[in-house]
Amino acid sequence: MQKNEPIRMCIACRVRQLQKKLIRLQQNNNNIFPFTGRGRSFYLCSSCSEDEKKVKGLIKRFRLSTDDSERFVKYLKELDKNG
Ligand SMILES: [Zn+2]
Repeated sequence: MQKNEPIRMCIACRVRQLQKKLIRLQQNNNNIFPFTGRGRSFYLCSSCSEDEKKVKGLIKRFRLSTDDSERFVKYLKELDKNG
């Protein structure tokens, strides 16, 4: 791990990792979507993004509607496919 690279924390498991290895997301109006560059963001590690229990926990925590949570889960699955 290089010294000057930014470290961020996964909000689900609180593991600290290099920022570039984490998935950056944003929450607004009870919806979670990829970070747009504006507003508050948070990070999720790749193992949590694949962990159904953790993802469900986040959905609960952010009080997502069914539609929004489906979109969120779909987005995470697409991330897995892209590596
Ligand atoms: Zn995590």
